[in-house]
Amino acid sequence: MTNSDKPATPLTYEELSELVKRHESVIKTLKTTLSVQQSKTRDILYSIPLGLLVVNGQQRIEALNKLIEEFFGYQTEELVSKKITELFPDLQFLRVNPKPVPVMARRKGGETFPAEIIVNEFDAQLNFVHVQDITERSRLDRLRQDFVAMVSHDLRTPLTSIRGFLTMASEGAYGPVSDQGNRAIDRAQSSADLLISLVVDLLDAEKIDSGEFEPDLQETTTNVVVDRAIYASQAAAKGANVEIDKEVTNDVFWADEDRVVQVIVNLVGNAIKFSPAGSIVTISAGLEGAGVVFRIKDRGPGIPKQLQSAIFERYRQLNQPKETKRRGFGLGLAICKSLVEKHKGRIWVQSEEGKGSTFCFSIPLMDENFRT
Ligand code: ADP
Repeated sequence: MTNSDKPATPLTYEELSELVKRHESVIKTLKTTLSVQQSKTRDILYSIPLGLLVVNGQQRIEALNKLIEEFFGYQTEELVSKKITELFPDLQFLRVNPKPVPVMARRKGGETFPAEIIVNEFDAQLNFVHVQDITERSRLDRLRQDFVAMVSHDLRTPLTSIRGFLTMASEGAYGPVSDQGNRAIDRAQSSADLLISLVVDLLDAEKIDSGEFEPDLQETTTNVVVDRAIYASQAAAKGANVEIDKEVTNDVFWADEDRVVQVIVNLVGNAIKFSPAGSIVTISAGLEGAGVVFRIKDRGPGIPKQLQSAIFERYRQLNQPKETKRRGFGLGLAICKSLVEKHKGRIWVQSEEGKGSTFCFSIPLMDENFRT
């Protein structure tokens, strides 16, 4: 006979009451622990440095934290069970979206401010809404736009006419120029070119950033874009005594041809800048998987592993070579990245310090009507 087959002996009254007491004490401890945990969770949620709302299926607010009180000027009790339109007048329904969405937010007094929300699903009935006040960021964006407009109108136009006058002077339009004068004009032209290219970089970055730029797709080939890029890079290569080599199969793809050429010219320009004199920069391109891949390989100093992703960020520059042939703002690679991503492609670098770098980018195969 096993234990479980034994007939249960009825408990005495004392034993029963002892058991109940023990259970009651366990339940009490559990309750206290739960309530301590709940209050800890509430405190954490309340004080996290991000506005947080809990919203139910009826689009009503169930809970909020301290930062929401600060952003909107309400006390918690004033908002609980109110519709979200109280805070975001244009938002009838919350859509779950892990990416920040810009919305107009309204404070207690009716004043509005720009905000960004991220909506995460907690369960079928509840959503977590993270809210960020982006007033300061919007103000900086406006300042940046004003600055870029200023750069565009007040710098680019006069620079271009200075460049024009210098060319005319060097061609003798204002009378004969001595050798010394021509050398001075050459230097002034290079400086004007450098400034114009910096201004163009700034304007390009701004245009892509503001969402104004969309690639103008056309049919082209890897051979055409590489040849155009080599043609545009020839003078720089010659000046640095660097040879450009090409290993390209002639594959057809759809892309904004001018912009792909711009990316290659930029990468080749960097490769030349970092190449030792007498070395070779190799451009290869061809079909790989579902797209075309371009590779620009140099025999320069290479890029340390830990900086290989940072160089694609704006205004990031590593040590420039001593004899810098083309200075920049650290915008070149960031612009390349944006242009490639606008084609739904990817850009990356393979490099080992002391062994050169290979910058690569891919453009998926797509056509005018069907963007992958
Ligand atoms: P910029 O426009 O100022 O040239 P980029 O965005 O093109 O800046 O480049 C960012 C940084 O990446 C630069 O500081 C440069 O030092 C480094 N870099 C870019 N290309 C190469 C390369 N081929 N070899 C070594 N370093 C490079």
